[in-house]
Amino acid sequence: MEQTTARVEPLYRRILLKLSGEALQGDHLFGIDASKLSRIAQEIIGAQQLGVQVALVVGGGNLIRGADLCAAGLDRIAADQMGMLATVINGLALRDALERKSIPVTLMSAFGIPSIAEQYDRSKAQEKLQQGHVVIFSAGTGNPLVTTDSAAALRGIEIGADIVLKATKVEGVFDDDPIKNPKAERFEHLSYEEVISKRLGVMDLTAILLCQDHGLPLRVFNMNKQGALKRIMLGEDIGTMIKAVE
Ligand code: UDP
Repeated sequence: MEQTTARVEPLYRRILLKLSGEALQGDHLFGIDASKLSRIAQEIIGAQQLGVQVALVVGGGNLIRGADLCAAGLDRIAADQMGMLATVINGLALRDALERKSIPVTLMSAFGIPSIAEQYDRSKAQEKLQQGHVVIFSAGTGNPLVTTDSAAALRGIEIGADIVLKATKVEGVFDDDPIKNPKAERFEHLSYEEVISKRLGVMDLTAILLCQDHGLPLRVFNMNKQGALKRIMLGEDIGTMIKAVE
């Protein structure tokens, strides 16, 4: 009798995963937690094993946020440059975590720091992704006054990602802060317009507008749930999906 083997086809060919600095800090309020890094690496491996190409944009909020330093009296541009450098530190930590699990990985930086990371090059990033590398984009956009959310949308569009996945600590986008209000309700689907008009604060406005202009879907999900990334790759409707209304 002929045997049939179920083939598991991922929904996406190439993804852009946005990790905030907070995702790396574990239960502490600052810094980098090695066990958290290892878990993130494991989640990425789960997606890669399905044949999905994984690019990352990493934030720096666990170390430095430009706006906070500016509020404390520093010059905004210098503070943002420090913030971008913080994302490079996180990028190095993620590269190390992936290398420890024998995953080929390329760390790129939006500005030149040649002894530490490769300078961002779109074609090279695409080439590396095709070769099975995880590509980490650090240093945000390379420009002050924006955040790594904008970098995620920008790089996602540039590399032709099928979706931007924003990892958060909660289950998706809610109508109120679910940590403070237990009655807050999660949206399953949203249009870009709804995110903007309801001021949902999913990502910064520049990032949402970029995704909208280029028809790049965005899913917000809880990366702390084991296997969540893989489940999304296999088509499960978890978190909140933001895309154009059909
Ligand atoms: N940043 C910047 N330009 C960019 C991306 C980031 O100036 O294109 C700076 C900004 O100061 C920001 C900090 O880097 O506060 C860390 O990034 P972000 O706040 O996006 O980190 P996350 O909140 O995702 O951890």
